[in-house]
Amino acid sequence: MLETAHTLITRAAKKCGLSEEQIKQLLEPENIVTFSIEMDNGASYPAFRVQHNNDRGPYKGGVRFHPRVELDEVRALAALMTFKTAAVDIPLGGAKGGVSVSSRDMSEAELEELSRKYVRGLRTSIGPDTDIPAPDVNTNAKIIDWMSDEYTKLTGDESGAAFTGKSLQNGGSEGREAATGRGGTVVLGEVLKLHKLDKTELTYAIQGVGNVGSFFIKIAESMLPNLLLTAASDSKGGLSSAFGFDHDTISSYRKNGKHLNDHASEDSVALSNEQLLSEDVDVLVLSALGDVITEDNMSTIKARVILELANGPVNEKAFDYLSEKGVIIIPDIVANAGGVIVSLLERQQNKADTHWTEKDVNQKLDAILKKAVDDMDVCATKEKTTLKEAAFMVAIRRLIDASS
Ligand code: NAD
Repeated sequence: MLETAHTLITRAAKKCGLSEEQIKQLLEPENIVTFSIEMDNGASYPAFRVQHNNDRGPYKGGVRFHPRVELDEVRALAALMTFKTAAVDIPLGGAKGGVSVSSRDMSEAELEELSRKYVRGLRTSIGPDTDIPAPDVNTNAKIIDWMSDEYTKLTGDESGAAFTGKSLQNGGSEGREAATGRGGTVVLGEVLKLHKLDKTELTYAIQGVGNVGSFFIKIAESMLPNLLLTAASDSKGGLSSAFGFDHDTISSYRKNGKHLNDHASEDSVALSNEQLLSEDVDVLVLSALGDVITEDNMSTIKARVILELANGPVNEKAFDYLSEKGVIIIPDIVANAGGVIVSLLERQQNKADTHWTEKDVNQKLDAILKKAVDDMDVCATKEKTTLKEAAFMVAIRRLIDASS
């Protein structure tokens, strides 16, 4: 996934006329903070924060707690954040952080200790105008609330603006939980309009019905009524039905630890994850994992539009093959930017000591994404290229402008 992003960024940068040296510089992080978190029980965990680029605004990106977190991956993810914030034109830079730890095995008290010590290690490197961490893999509003509280204790800053993804009672924003799924719906709707497909009845399949996927299904029901969900999958497989599914049915199937393919019936058939990807649908929504469409299965894809809600779900070879065949691939850096956009809105509310309604937040989110799709489409048409390359080109040009 990260190699694909690296290759596509390099390709787009060359098309923008950047030299090898400029490309190298663009991919290099500005600061790397590494330290060890020493726990009271004697355990020690490597911790990182990579600040990639702040030419367009403070560093911004999530913090993940995972045993496989390592510096190279955090570096690459930090760079991707820079391109994402630039592609959707919000005044933020790119960063990422993480702790190499199996946090799922920790007690709540240990998790709190870990979270607070992570902030102590970063005390002088982060802040509302410097670097604003947020939740990511295995971190959530509760963890961010501890981090934000620790930051307030250390610095006296009570704005809450040094972290986003906080709980609502601690300065979080309305609409944050749904933001990535909602953003994906808005972006898909705009692309369908540009291709004059918005008035056509279309079917879609979705891989992954977690936070992002289930909000996508829910919001698409009202925002894109011509779209019929005919197949969906989770980690154990999925279901397909020509009659279609609605959000409430899918979420009821996922209750009590059950999986979608436990519910095959007269009206629906069970599918493997691989079968879900090659369903005969108009739109394929990928909201589970990276690298799910590769050279091994690219020739089986029948959808004519692919929406990348996960990061890098289509690898480079598959991307080139499907683009050549005329499949419209809506790139992750725009399609899944809803979360970071609402993070910006959360910081703006914290700084102004105010709280917007969900309707206000959604209006601002939608407007930013509609403009981002328009900018990407204009560039794709002018440069006669794919939406993905265009999104990277738009981002690179903004970054070059900001650095000069
Ligand atoms: P999540 O953990 O809530 O949901 C992931 C879903 O994918 C689950 O339903 C899981 O069962 C399913 N899944 C796992 N393996 C699968 C497989 N092989 N086939 C089909 N389904 C599978 O995660 P999420 O927050 O919904 O994020 C989904 C993706 O979007 C991730 O790749 C994440 O990095 C990316 N993303 C999320 C956000 C966000 O704001 N949450 C923002 C940008 C990108």
